Amino acid sequence: MRAWSVLRPGRVEEEPLRFVRKPVPVPGADELLLRVSACGVCRTDLHVAEGDLPVRRPGVTPGHEVVGVVAGLGSAVSGFTAGDRVGAAWLRGTDGTCAYCRRGAENLCPASRYTGWDADGGYAEYTTVAAAFAYRLPDALDDVSAAPLLCAGIIGHRALRRASLPARGRLGLYGFGGSAHLCAQIALAEGATVHVMTRGADARRLALALGAASAQDAYDPPPEPLDSAILFAPAGELVPVALRALDRGGVLAVAGIHLSDVPRLRYESELFYEKELRSVTSSTRRDGREFLALAARYGVRATTHTYPLSRADEALRDLKAGRFDGAAVLVNGVE
Ligand SMILES: [Zn+2]
Ligand SMILES: [Zn+2]
Repeated sequence: MRAWSVLRPGRVEEEPLRFVRKPVPVPGADELLLRVSACGVCRTDLHVAEGDLPVRRPGVTPGHEVVGVVAGLGSAVSGFTAGDRVGAAWLRGTDGTCAYCRRGAENLCPASRYTGWDADGGYAEYTTVAAAFAYRLPDALDDVSAAPLLCAGIIGHRALRRASLPARGRLGLYGFGGSAHLCAQIALAEGATVHVMTRGADARRLALALGAASAQDAYDPPPEPLDSAILFAPAGELVPVALRALDRGGVLAVAGIHLSDVPRLRYESELFYEKELRSVTSSTRRDGREFLALAARYGVRATTHTYPLSRADEALRDLKAGRFDGAAVLVNGVE
């Protein structure tokens, strides 16, 4: 099969990824073999390709927003049959036994493994997923629309919950890419007022088209104080900016897996009055199931830009350069 492989992490302009031939993977006893239909391109893939995340599997195939059709089943799998349409996401496996797993925080499991980082992901014609970590996808969502929901959507949903937005509250979104534009749709459907702070003019237009109350540059203050904010941009220098935009008692959640250094914070203007700064780490299967159900109920739609699988490197360069709004999706079977 054809698959992308991160040969040696480095700047995507210098082609760290190669489009290679690999054997079709053999599913383990508890795994499904998927024929990949579509795979979303996530900023984390860029971090894997560029080495912002350390190498966990040399030559790894990135991709963790995988929509595919079951093409093979391990001997111990039940509940799935060949031809089922399923999704594979970032969280690939946990030990299920540690204190975090037992209390429902499997996203914090020290033994957790990740698709497209610890194991080969979906920038390929075939991939595998543990049956216990595969998502059934609502019929309402076609393959391309469903792909970005599997990481961008799920993590945006977890970030929204971590930001503790009160009912009909005022939410600020810093950065407006794949994750934020999905999160915004859930927040708006639930009655929030959404303000978007982002540098891209196209992203600001998309925000307003989706129903945001305002859209301004990343460093501009929103028109009213915020109950909650989510930082999607991987820019630590925006942390104090977002904290200053919070009302008393407000919460800022940082959604990214990778963030440039946070500058020194000023206690009086940026943390006092019980403002809170929280991180968001991966997600649980429960987050995923909740989000996919909400996405189907609210009609959440990803704005997508498709690329053939053979142009994954170009998709990553375009993501880095901010050349599209919404989410890029690799599609198999087209050139
Ligand atoms: Zn665990
Ligand atoms: Zn991701």
